[in-house]
Amino acid sequence: MDRDFWLFIGLIALAGLVGWNFGYPSEAALVTAIAILGWHTKALSSLSRWIIQPSRKPFVREHGQIYGIYRQLLRKNKQNKQRKRRLSSLINEFRNAVSALPDSIVLINQHRKIVWANPNSRKLLGIEWPLDNGVRFTDLIRDIDVEKLLKDEARFTQDQQQGVEIKSPLNHEQTISIKCVNYSDNTHMIIARDVSRLIKVNQIHSDFVANVSHELKTPLTVLRGYVEILSDSKDMPERFQKPLAQMNSQSVRMQLIVNDLLYLAKLENTDKPALHEPVIVSHLINTIVEALQPLMDEKEHRLELDIDDSIALTGASTELHSAFSNLVTNAIHYTPKGGKIGVVWRANKDQAQLHVIDNGLGIAPHHLNRLTQRFYRVDTDRSRDGGGTGLGLAIVKHVLQRHDASLRIESTESEGSRFICEFPAEKLLRGGADKVIAIAN
Ligand code: ADP
Repeated sequence: MDRDFWLFIGLIALAGLVGWNFGYPSEAALVTAIAILGWHTKALSSLSRWIIQPSRKPFVREHGQIYGIYRQLLRKNKQNKQRKRRLSSLINEFRNAVSALPDSIVLINQHRKIVWANPNSRKLLGIEWPLDNGVRFTDLIRDIDVEKLLKDEARFTQDQQQGVEIKSPLNHEQTISIKCVNYSDNTHMIIARDVSRLIKVNQIHSDFVANVSHELKTPLTVLRGYVEILSDSKDMPERFQKPLAQMNSQSVRMQLIVNDLLYLAKLENTDKPALHEPVIVSHLINTIVEALQPLMDEKEHRLELDIDDSIALTGASTELHSAFSNLVTNAIHYTPKGGKIGVVWRANKDQAQLHVIDNGLGIAPHHLNRLTQRFYRVDTDRSRDGGGTGLGLAIVKHVLQRHDASLRIESTESEGSRFICEFPAEKLLRGGADKVIAIAN
């Protein structure tokens, strides 16, 4: 800046001096100043033309101030080009990686329209990129569960692992799991994966358990029969009495396990009952409580019922009986003598809840998530002593899933537990038992 400034002053002074020799000092200085300004203006407009059209070299004097600006811009331009190249190669690498994924990745906008899809989307979902650019995802994948998944804004805050399983639109033998995650404010990423193999393996596993249980059933019944006959025999020597009693109790336990395993396999392998019957929950609870009364008396428990008999459910009565009965049996079993057991059935506009409450042993927080796994027990000996199979809560979970309901467990060690079954409003029938029976008929 300084250099240009002094050059400017110097030139004007020189022009003034020359002009003074001829008797026109100020005119000569003015003409020179205008010429210098004209030069600068030309250089500036040539620079601005170059910014728009970089192929044309600008008309600037080397070493001047404008030349400095030109050099700076040139450097910045070069850096930008390099950054752009790096970014586009990164994007290309990312796209290549996503394209190489065995899963299908589809990006959709807030109107559910496709904005990008990787090549595997063609194999799994029949979506072709760029042919299907701008087509609504749900116009190509017509499935009610997918519609629900994409509508359900809550999925972004809830468990993002949750998805839906659908039959592939291209091959009905193939099962596809579809998940949707929030990718940016207006874009969602749909991840589709072929889970046919996993389902097949699970099916084989579940069939195996069911077959083994089934095969064990008959020999066990025979064994139990003989053990019972021998236990009842008056000729049985004294020293065999104890081992026979043990054989009897163990075979009873095995039979209970086999029965529970078979029941679980049935729940897993049969479709949700399509036509649900009306279930009068108050009647169901009374039946369960009556059947368990001797057990409750034995443990001297006090029972408190708070049942809204105007609320009924649509569902499979035998399945719900088994689930609720398991919960009440557990409450009785895991509460020390003289405890308090509560059963509450109530509803609001969104859902109905069955609470089974006890003031028993309670459960430490780290067990809570695993309680519904098969054979998971907090205390194995205590469970076995009470005739527990370790499958009760797994059955509860399955039954509730089949009724679109869920199980929530609240518990504090040494204070007690509360098992809450939550049923969605669609499963409720409101009105007294008489009205529900009338609907059923
Ligand atoms: P089990 O046949 O062993 O009772 P469940 O599946 O019904 O099997 O229950 C799993 C485990 O959860 C039990 O072994 C027990 O440790 C714990 N549990 C279930 N219900 C209760 C309860 N009401 N209070 C304390 N612990 C419980």
